[in-house]
Amino acid sequence: MAVPFRRTSKTKKRMRRTHLKKTANEMVACPKCGEMIRPHRACTKCGYYKGKEVIKIKEDEE
Ligand SMILES: [Zn+2]
Repeated sequence: MAVPFRRTSKTKKRMRRTHLKKTANEMVACPKCGEMIRPHRACTKCGYYKGKEVIKIKEDEE
């Protein structure tokens, strides 16, 4: 297996990692209840996805 000729300097390592950053989770508003949810997932509030109820959510309103 090939081995690096030189140790990567702290600067080079940090320069490479400038592009490796965590991004905030993307959120969209649920078309049914308006809750902010992750796209392409059933809504955790109302259980709807693509206009149909796909999961049952217990109604515990205060
Ligand atoms: Zn919803």
